[in-house]
Amino acid sequence: MQAQPTASHFVDGAYIEDEAGQAFDSFHSATGEVIARLHAATPAVIDKAMESAARAQVEWAATPPAERARVLRRAADLIRARNEELSRLESLDTAKPIQETLVADAMSGVEALEWFAAQAASIAGEAVPLGTDFAYTVREPLGVCVGIGAWNYPTQIACWKAAPALACGNAMVFKPSELTPLCTLKVAEIFMEAGAPAGLFNVVQGFGDVGAALSTHPLTAKVSLTGSVPTGAKVYSAAAAGMRHVTMELGGKSPIVVFDDADIEDAIGGAMLGNFYSAGQICSNGTRVFVQSGIRDRFLERLIERTKTIRVGDPLDPDTHMGPLISEAQRAKVVGYIEAGTREGATLAYGGGLPSGPVFDKGAFIEPTIFSDVTDDMTIAREEIFGPVLSLLSFETEDEAIARANGTPFGLAAGVFTRDLARGHRVAGQLQAGICWINTYNLTPVEAPFGGVKQSGLGRENGRAAMEFYSQLKTVHVGLGRVDSPY
Ligand code: NAD
Repeated sequence: MQAQPTASHFVDGAYIEDEAGQAFDSFHSATGEVIARLHAATPAVIDKAMESAARAQVEWAATPPAERARVLRRAADLIRARNEELSRLESLDTAKPIQETLVADAMSGVEALEWFAAQAASIAGEAVPLGTDFAYTVREPLGVCVGIGAWNYPTQIACWKAAPALACGNAMVFKPSELTPLCTLKVAEIFMEAGAPAGLFNVVQGFGDVGAALSTHPLTAKVSLTGSVPTGAKVYSAAAAGMRHVTMELGGKSPIVVFDDADIEDAIGGAMLGNFYSAGQICSNGTRVFVQSGIRDRFLERLIERTKTIRVGDPLDPDTHMGPLISEAQRAKVVGYIEAGTREGATLAYGGGLPSGPVFDKGAFIEPTIFSDVTDDMTIAREEIFGPVLSLLSFETEDEAIARANGTPFGLAAGVFTRDLARGHRVAGQLQAGICWINTYNLTPVEAPFGGVKQSGLGRENGRAAMEFYSQLKTVHVGLGRVDSPY
């Protein structure tokens, strides 16, 4: 099983290598096999990437928006045509099941590229009448934007950042997670093939120090990070020193509130997708499932029945629902949380172990896990686990559920399941989260803004809102009278 790229980095329109950079391996975590060996970017590679991006950005910003849109659409078409090949690579890189990657990764990138291509041509300012004078505004690109990715959705994260950035006339230097370095190189290749100028979208590899060097590079106008809250705090403060723009897509501990009157099967489906999809490695997962006491027992019983049908296995097998975690280290972390849950008095209602057998022996597999009788003060109800561990909590009243759902420093997402229309909107209105779902969960269509409040981040990806985070306003005041000067 090999997925060795031509070279580690894609800079100024071509693959480049610099063996002076720290060597690191990329593993397929279902088997533990090394699938590629790469080098982290040296300062020389970082400078080359930033300088080529700065050059390309000037040319790109001067390109008519309709032509920029054509390049994005061509990139979307190429990704769609190669979805199978790209999804297989994504499944090697992340060990997510092929049945997920075929629909949720490269194809989500396609949607972002198509949608932001459509936005590119409608970027416009406003005319502001001022009596005799007038002013007009121009929405300008920021310059070179740095994208830094997490390991759970490498292609999607790169496209969600690149599509609005490029649509607005920026260039991008992207650093994928060191755990999933492969997919974004393909995105860079495809942008070139689609007709983007060399240097418009570059990929440099490396660990946190490379991300930090990019965040403070003199040519960096903006940093968009998808990662954990502690990394976000570091990147935000590093960017602040240069007054750089930021978008922070960070972690969460999101609540799903299920009322007695909800469609119980839909609520269970939402809770399962919001905890077990991608083996639970999704930032917006609803890991605290608050169920009203009248349906709590029935909910738990059906949740367990349905969770038993999840097929854990080889991610490349089309029948597999759930693959392993991204690494042994991540599994050890999740196992530590499961132990904490048991130790602190939660009931281990399902799973909690490591599956055994020939398919599982060398991989970072873990069973889908359900804890019931969880209380708000337990570690598993407070900290982001980033694995397939669902915590079930019960509540009596609407006010109580809202207060407890909001009792977290995070604020990425929230869900409410009820058949009562007024209650659905009333509760969504009070939940402290950047995105709330009513009677569904974890849907992230490109048309709707996505992002967090509180410690889960700032700025928004997707939707028209994303365009504002990759552009800035210039006001031009036009004097039509004489200059009225007292001097
Ligand atoms: P992480 O914070 O460890 O790493 C994220 C990226 O930041 C990596 O590329 C890493 O190399 C880089 N990095 C680390 N230190 C840095 C520094 N000092 N300066 C610049 N870059 C640095 O996160 P992870 O473990 O890769 O991903 C999991 C986390 O990401 C979870 O908390 C999850 O909730 C979050 N996440 C959020 C979203 C979202 O859209 N809100 C989406 C996916 C994942």
